[in-house]
Amino acid sequence: MATLTLHPGKEKSVRRRHPWLFSGAVAQLDGRARPGDTVDVVSSDGRPLASAAWSPASQIRARIWSFDVDESIDHAFFKRRIAAAVARRAALPELAGQQGLRLIHAESDGLPGVIADRYGDTVVVQLTTVGADKWRAAIADSLFKATGCARIYERSDVEVRSLEGLQAVTGWLHGTAAAEELVIEENGVNMTVDIVGGHKTGFYLDQRDNRRRVAELARDRRVLNCFCYTAGFSLQALAGGAREVVSMDSSGPALATARRNLALNPQLDATRAIWLEADVFTELRNMRGAGDSYDLIVLDPPKFAHTAAHAERAGRAYKEINLSALRLLAPGGLLMTYSCSGGVNAELFQKIVAGAALDAGRTARIVQRLQGAADHPVDLAFPEGDYLKGLLLQVD
Ligand code: SAH
Repeated sequence: MATLTLHPGKEKSVRRRHPWLFSGAVAQLDGRARPGDTVDVVSSDGRPLASAAWSPASQIRARIWSFDVDESIDHAFFKRRIAAAVARRAALPELAGQQGLRLIHAESDGLPGVIADRYGDTVVVQLTTVGADKWRAAIADSLFKATGCARIYERSDVEVRSLEGLQAVTGWLHGTAAAEELVIEENGVNMTVDIVGGHKTGFYLDQRDNRRRVAELARDRRVLNCFCYTAGFSLQALAGGAREVVSMDSSGPALATARRNLALNPQLDATRAIWLEADVFTELRNMRGAGDSYDLIVLDPPKFAHTAAHAERAGRAYKEINLSALRLLAPGGLLMTYSCSGGVNAELFQKIVAGAALDAGRTARIVQRLQGAADHPVDLAFPEGDYLKGLLLQVD
């Protein structure tokens, strides 16, 4: 096996159990390693530290599989890690019965580059790094053994794979497409999941608890759900007794799926749902011009900053939509606002929203801080995993 030697002092992050080794930390590689091969990581004075996947094309030159230098990285390793990740979810009561569930949350489950989501008896796996890509067969087999699922679909078509020198890969790893539409129940509402064409692995499971929170808050309110995608928040608002729910997205196909989701829930009052295919930035300004107002607004935009380098531009975008939304709130109204940008941390996000409130001339209070659901845990040693942060604000 090849040996990756770090520069002096660069072993510190490894000792803190951070799984990434950037190019600047790497002094040399001795021996031959192909992309994705496992390498031994040693300190500048040759002390063994970890086993990692070699990613020569990426700025993150290696990702650590194990901090135990005696642990072999083989099929059995993936079987153990995947079984442990599945067992952790089963041990949390709020997750145990979920039909839609993230089973593997990459670094935070000790498996960099590996995402796996379960939708009923279908598991969707996404491999984002060359190290993970190499172990596809072991990962698929281990997922099947840990879950007993009927089928496994691969959705490795994310942009970040290009940074690893990888092409998009999609297709069935186990079983074949089910004859019937894939539908999960979330907080008592049916949601169709398009694993082939939808975002991510088909659905945003991370917002499960926050959608339920909207159901709790929605009674008799006029709700505006911006960036609604397939209407996860909207249907919860209807289920919670909202007076009216306006759902906005710029994607026609997302709105088509959103309407399909409403149709899958005859218990909801469809006459209270209004759909708008529009750009949120423009439409919020138009609504303000027209004198509209809402009692509860949800802002769950796409990732505006892919890295910290884009944080400034992203900050302007977050400020603009939050400012517009705050202006549209009726007295006593609620704003549920999110950022899923890794480059914008919770502190910065709060500052941006505070600036928006100031400019909007609204006094707002944080009544709750929001985060991803428990099946999207954050390893304390890996703060980068803390991507989803939200604020529930109440305005005067
Ligand atoms: N809130 C959703 C997930 C949002 S994903 C949920 O709970 O499932 C982000 C959505 O924003 C996508 O559906 C995308 O089509 C939409 N989008 C991106 N930019 C937009 C814009 N400028 N205006 C309106 N929608 C936009």
